[in-house]
Amino acid sequence: MTGQSLWAPWRLDYIVTSDNDDGCFLCRYRDADPTDDSRQLVIARGEHTMTMLNRFPYNNGHLLVAPREHVGDLVDLDPAVVTECVEQLQHWTRRLRETMAPHGFNIGLNLGRVAGAGLPGHLHWHIVPRWEGDTNFMPVLGNPSVIPQSLDSLFELLTADQPPDEVTGGFPPDPPL
Ligand SMILES: [Zn+2]
Repeated sequence: MTGQSLWAPWRLDYIVTSDNDDGCFLCRYRDADPTDDSRQLVIARGEHTMTMLNRFPYNNGHLLVAPREHVGDLVDLDPAVVTECVEQLQHWTRRLRETMAPHGFNIGLNLGRVAGAGLPGHLHWHIVPRWEGDTNFMPVLGNPSVIPQSLDSLFELLTADQPPDEVTGGFPPDPPL
């Protein structure tokens, strides 16, 4: 079982779709129809950012916050984009606290493949909720991860009972296509 999730139904979707996965998945989600966001697992679209569930989570509640623009390096981001990214990190950290009561978080950015970036061309912050006792299950240690909640129910949990402007962090909706 080393390195495998004990229960991960979304892996099947990955196997089915990975052959067609050319290009950047963040840009693909950015350009997708927002009315399809529940299927894309995009939980917020801001003026400069988007936030989504990680389809291959390290832990329950694992989110990604990314700039809309395909930029690989932190130093190349416009200050307004940096500000909105951090606002989104704050918003979703608060929301995860309210809905899942984690004991702590790992929040960070992997710049470059050598630092662990799976998609080095389009930077993205990870928000990983942590609970006492989950340490032994973190994939970084090569042990199986236990993720008891499906991504669909997590999506519903995080987006339920929120006024629409709060879902997008209070930023304007997408401009018309
Ligand atoms: Zn991209």
